[in-house]
Amino acid sequence: MTDVVVQGLSKSFGSNHVLKALDLRVPSRQFVTLLGPSGCGKTTLLRMIAGLEKATAGEIRFGDRRVDTLPPGERNIAMVFQSYALYPTMDVARNIGYGLEVRGTPKAEKQDKVGAVAKVLEILHLLTRKPKQLSGGQRQRVALGRAMVRRPDIFLMDEPLSNLDAKLRATMRGELRRFHLDLGTTTIYVTHDQLEAMTMSDLVVVMNEGVVQQIGTPEEVYGKPANLFVAGFIGTPPMNLIPARWEDGALSVAGTALPITLPAGAPADVILGVRPQDVTIVPAGTLGSIPGKVWIVELIGSERLIEVELAPKLRVTAEVRASHRAAIDDAVAIRPDPDNLHVFDPATGMAIS
Ligand code: ATP
Repeated sequence: MTDVVVQGLSKSFGSNHVLKALDLRVPSRQFVTLLGPSGCGKTTLLRMIAGLEKATAGEIRFGDRRVDTLPPGERNIAMVFQSYALYPTMDVARNIGYGLEVRGTPKAEKQDKVGAVAKVLEILHLLTRKPKQLSGGQRQRVALGRAMVRRPDIFLMDEPLSNLDAKLRATMRGELRRFHLDLGTTTIYVTHDQLEAMTMSDLVVVMNEGVVQQIGTPEEVYGKPANLFVAGFIGTPPMNLIPARWEDGALSVAGTALPITLPAGAPADVILGVRPQDVTIVPAGTLGSIPGKVWIVELIGSERLIEVELAPKLRVTAEVRASHRAAIDDAVAIRPDPDNLHVFDPATGMAIS
């Protein structure tokens, strides 16, 4: 049982304050993903948990054990990097089993463990090859195998799937998830790919500029974004964020009053958030709709994105069935699903309903 607890963790590189008094608790046995844009400090946080980077302030504990003063070798973690550092002269089996070998694990036990991991990763047929005889994806699997075989207390993974092609990545997402469910090892996984985060995680930690923006299940960060950053970052295409005005008991968007009630204390100026999947295109004049005209239409496979201009520079994207026909400049109206609206305070950026 190993909760990972990060308290008041700060890290600066010179004047660059990469992590700002960050607090985080990763519950034992969970798969937790650090998700955020490039440069937000995900890798730095992971490297500090691994012991590869020293904190400027704050502490890190595994369960009751304070570890930020310990060298990496004493933390019983296994880390998988984006750049898989394999031993070039050793074959795949030895690369995977090397951690066991240096610990003096008996040969038969080592072979069993390497075999079991290689089976899960579907690399049994590659065990006698050298790294240079492998594709990038195969090397990545070997790197994963090397971390898995040691049965550490904690897995730390830094974008381990980013060098794989899309199809293999999708397969590996499922495999990693299965592997985690079977093993139950606490896992901290870094990615900027929301699909990975949403499909694999028990909890997603959304980060921006060295600050945790929200921690929640994939459903929570998608369905109840805590602030404008999370709202705009999670979801594809991104959530529409529309300036609106709350007065006299009505919410008015681009001059049209919508039958929506906000909680007491909501400010007069708000931002209305609605996902493209929650916007329908309806005939102009439909109750609860906002008139506009079609700005652009894009086919994205089985769906079509229709961007509707409500007012100059105010456009809203609707995701509709590909069979829905629309032409540029058509007069239409959009209807946001009243059950799936998000409202934010533009002054604080925080969700208010
Ligand atoms: P990415 O998804 O691009 O890997 P990230 O969220 O993992 O991004 P980090 O790699 O943690 O971000 O980097 C955060 C910031 O810290 C960046 O501004 C980066 O330039 C800076 N940084 C990271 N390591 C160092 C270092 N060793 N020396 C100086 N600055 C660093």
